[in-house]
Amino acid sequence: MTNENIEKHKVVIVGGGAAGLELATSLGRQLGKPGLAEITLIDVASTHIWKPLLHEVAAGTLDESEQVEYLPQGHRNNFYFRLGRMEGLDRQKKQIVVSPTLSDSGEELIPGRTFNYDTLVMSVGSVSNTFNIKGVAEHCLFLDTTSQAFKFQKQLFESYLKSYIGKDSANIKPLSIAIVGAGATGVELAAQLHEVTNVLAIYGLNEKSTVKLTIIEAATQLLPALPIKLAAATQQQLVNLGVVLKMGRRVVEITKEGITTHDGEFIEADLKVWAAGIKAPDWMKGLDGLETNHINQLVVDSTLKTSDDDIFAMGDCAACLWKGHTGNVPPRAQAAHQQASALCKSIINRLKGRGLVEFVYYDYGSLVSLGKYTTVGNLMGNLMGTVSIGGFIAKVVYLSLYKMHQVAIHGYFRTAMLTLSNVFRRSVYRKIKMH
Ligand SMILES: Cc1cc2nc3c(=O)[nH]c(=O)nc-3n(C[C@H](O)[C@H](O)[C@H](O)COP(=O)(O)OP(=O)(O)OC[C@H]3O[C@@H](n4cnc5c(N)ncnc54)[C@H](O)[C@@H]3O)c2cc1C
Repeated sequence: MTNENIEKHKVVIVGGGAAGLELATSLGRQLGKPGLAEITLIDVASTHIWKPLLHEVAAGTLDESEQVEYLPQGHRNNFYFRLGRMEGLDRQKKQIVVSPTLSDSGEELIPGRTFNYDTLVMSVGSVSNTFNIKGVAEHCLFLDTTSQAFKFQKQLFESYLKSYIGKDSANIKPLSIAIVGAGATGVELAAQLHEVTNVLAIYGLNEKSTVKLTIIEAATQLLPALPIKLAAATQQQLVNLGVVLKMGRRVVEITKEGITTHDGEFIEADLKVWAAGIKAPDWMKGLDGLETNHINQLVVDSTLKTSDDDIFAMGDCAACLWKGHTGNVPPRAQAAHQQASALCKSIINRLKGRGLVEFVYYDYGSLVSLGKYTTVGNLMGNLMGTVSIGGFIAKVVYLSLYKMHQVAIHGYFRTAMLTLSNVFRRSVYRKIKMH
């Protein structure tokens, strides 16, 4: 970077996910490169995987090349990356507080530190909301972070191995997996797991009949974001795949052995996955006096500004009213993408002494991928209204959301090259991670 001696405006972005990494990259290119500001991205992990791909990580079907290393990404795009977990904020000193970074064995690698900011952007995403239901935190697996998804994948593969080794024994029961929550995450995960089971059967490591998949949902309809017709078609597809659906069942307790619902039914499950709602992390509640809502999200105005003029929030950790609608902008990747673009313009304007950009969320529709089986969803358009789509077209549109994220962080040329190389890799390498 140039102009090292001049005190530059410090933009600190906390959380390099769907929203934060896009913002750091575009600000790095537009402000960091010409030396107009110092852009720093802080994340608790050293690599990024786009969160909607986590169910593929969990099922073991994701290609490892989809991971982005923050350090080289920062070097290429003129922002600094600093590893660490934010744990506090001092608005008076305009500092964020980051806890010490420890190794797996508990050894301190980086001591606790603080970072000064002139402009702070919070984009730390969300975690699963357990609603304080007994046993959820202790016995469920979650798909909030990449490391949780890898942990799930490891347990899944070990469970497959156990069930395979024991398949000749009369005492061994089939492997059972229960997913709580029939939103996009739960439904997509169920389809991925079904696909994996089939591939393992082809490899001779498993038998289709040895895995029992159950989805438990408190509402009576799955995929509430989709029109009833599409949700019903998805429901039928899952039933055809042999997935057991327990709709209208509220989970009241989870134990090591399984899940109890409000009507007293006990559903036995070896692996239990919680995918039933989100909240911002608990440490954000009332963060140094900033306004937060009942799920700890920072309340922002239509410019994504919090109650502090120097602090902005975007993505899942922000509560932003959805103009023209009754609720907030939904916690979705397309919202994170759009907010990152709006905030990039605002921060550039801010440095130039101009006004902030008004953020208006545009819902392009919802798409749900049932892996290789099908993709369903609806597209919203000004001219056509809501259009239901499925099959190949839906798959292409579904993939385009991820491609937009890749273009934002890698540019068009690299994204095209990455896509091509993945097509070739997938035709040569195994389809499933098996370790
Ligand atoms: C399995 C799954 C499937 C999904 N599928 C879809 C889909 O198909 N379509 C869709 O629109 N949305 C989908 N979503 C939702 C979508 O992924 C989120 O809305 C989106 O990722 C939110 O972006 P974000 O930048 O706010 O947070 P994230 O992308 O979650 O990024 C947050 C970042 O903050 C970092 N971080 C967290 N805490 C700290 C801390 N204390 N200090 C420093 N760094 C921290 C994390 O490591 C992470 O890198 C899915 C979510 C999941 C879990």
